[in-house]
Amino acid sequence: MASVHSMRVINSRRFRHRPLADPTSSIRLIKVLPKRSADGLLQCQISHSINTDKYTCLSYVWGQEHDHGGPFSILVNGKTVTVRYNLHTFLKVARSKFPKRNFWIDALCIDQLNTVERNHQVQQMGTIYAKAKEVIAWLGDEKTVEEAIPIIRFLTKFRNFPWQILDFVILESSRRRKQKREKQLGDFQDTFDRYWSRAWITQEITLASHVRILVRHTEWDISRVPHRHATQVAGVFSSYRQVPFFLFWSIVRQSHEAELPLLQLLSRYRDKQCAIERDRIFSLLAICNEGAYFEVDYNCSDRQLLREVLNVSSLSPCICSAEVALSGIDISAMSREDLNDEYFVSFAMNPTHIIRWNSSNYSGTRQCTVCQFDMDKSWNYRNGLIFCLSFVCHEIRGHLFWEEQSPTEGDIYCIGHSSTDSTPLGRIGHWVNVEIDACKELYTISFTLSALLKLFQGRKETLPQPRLCGIACTQGSESSRVKFS
Ligand SMILES: [Zn+2]
Ligand SMILES: [Zn+2]
Repeated sequence: MASVHSMRVINSRRFRHRPLADPTSSIRLIKVLPKRSADGLLQCQISHSINTDKYTCLSYVWGQEHDHGGPFSILVNGKTVTVRYNLHTFLKVARSKFPKRNFWIDALCIDQLNTVERNHQVQQMGTIYAKAKEVIAWLGDEKTVEEAIPIIRFLTKFRNFPWQILDFVILESSRRRKQKREKQLGDFQDTFDRYWSRAWITQEITLASHVRILVRHTEWDISRVPHRHATQVAGVFSSYRQVPFFLFWSIVRQSHEAELPLLQLLSRYRDKQCAIERDRIFSLLAICNEGAYFEVDYNCSDRQLLREVLNVSSLSPCICSAEVALSGIDISAMSREDLNDEYFVSFAMNPTHIIRWNSSNYSGTRQCTVCQFDMDKSWNYRNGLIFCLSFVCHEIRGHLFWEEQSPTEGDIYCIGHSSTDSTPLGRIGHWVNVEIDACKELYTISFTLSALLKLFQGRKETLPQPRLCGIACTQGSESSRVKFS
C-alpha cells in the first residue's frame, strides 16, 4: 500500500484541467507527441482553442475501465492521466500516424469532474463535431478486423458488378480462404456493431463533414465511395447477416440527415447504449429539431428531464410520447417522489368514448362498442365507467374501468388490448384522478408517473419497444388534450 507521502506525490503529479475561459465557446485540443517519456509513457499536449483551429474529432467506444488490464497511464502536459484500453491503443497509433495533428477527444478534452463545464461542452458537442475537419471512426486494434478493410475496399471498386458474383469470388474461392474471409468480415461486423450501438456515435457521424474509418494503422476514407457501390458491399454482408453498417454508410453519404423531432429519433435509436442513461436523450440534441431549445443538465431530476423532453417536443403530445420519452431515462433509478408525488399526465375524454357499464345490463358480450376489443370478465359484474383509450392514442388500445362509488371515490383498473386481466391502477386521489366537467360532460383523467408506467406495462407484452402512434402525434390530439406537468 502506498504511504501517505507517496500518495501526495502521485496526486500532485496528476493532470488537472485548467478551467476554460468560456465553456460555451472554447474547447481543448490535444496532440500526441512523437517521443515517449523516459519511463515509456505516451505523451500528449493539451491546449485551449476557440473552435477556429483545424482539428479532428475522434469517434470511438469508451469500453470498460479494466479492459485488457487497464486503465493505462499517459502524460498530459507532463502530468499523469489514466485512459481506457481503446483510447490508449488509438493514441499509440496516432503517435506515429498523425504527428502534430490536433484532436478533440471527449474523455480528455472535457473536464469530466466539472458538471457545469460538462453541461456546456455536451450542449456544444454537435458544433464541435460539425466544425471538425474530419471525424475518425476508430474501430480498435484487432488484426482480423483490420484485414477486413482491404476486402471491403476492394469490393467498392467495382461498378455495376453483380454482388452475387463478387460474393462468390471472394467468399467461395476455396474452403480455407472462405473461412478466413468470413472470420475477417464477421469480426469487422461484430466490432462495427459494438461501435454503432453506442448512443453518442449517432450524432458524431451524422454531423461529420468527412468520415474516415481507422483500424490499427489501416484507414478507409468512406466518404469518397460512391453510394451505389455501398449497395454491393451491403449485399455481401447481408448474405449472412443484417447490416447496421449500411445505415451508418447511408448517413455518411447523406452527410446531414434531415433534422427530425427528438421523440422520433429517440424512438428510432431507442436500443442505443450509454453509460449514463439520459445520454440517450442528450446525444440526439444536436441532430433533432428541438435541440436549440433544450438545456443539457446532468443534475436535474428524471421527472424534470421527462417534462422538458415532452414540453419542448415539436410533435403534439400524445400519451405514447411519454412512453418514448421514458425510454431515454433509467426508470428503475427514479425517486419515489418523482414517481408518486404529483400527477404527471392528464387527458380529457368525451362521452363518445365512455361506456356507462351496469352489471344488470350485462348481455353476454364483453366487446367495447368503440374499438371492438374484449374487456375483462371481472368487469361484467361491476358498475362503473369504461374509458376506451383508443380515443387518446391509436397505439394504446386498452380500457380504463372506473369502479365509481361516488364522484370522488373508487378504484381504476386498466386492461391492455392483448391481455385478459385488468391491473389495478390506483384509487381515485392516489396515483389516479378523475375530474368531471358537468356542463361539457368531459372527464379529465390524471396519472402519476407510477400509474402511467403501469398503463404501459400491459403494452410491453405485445409491443416490446415503445413506439409513437404517428397519426395522433403528427395531426395533434387536440380533442384528447394530453398535458404533461
Ligand atoms: Zn375500446
Ligand atoms: Zn399516441
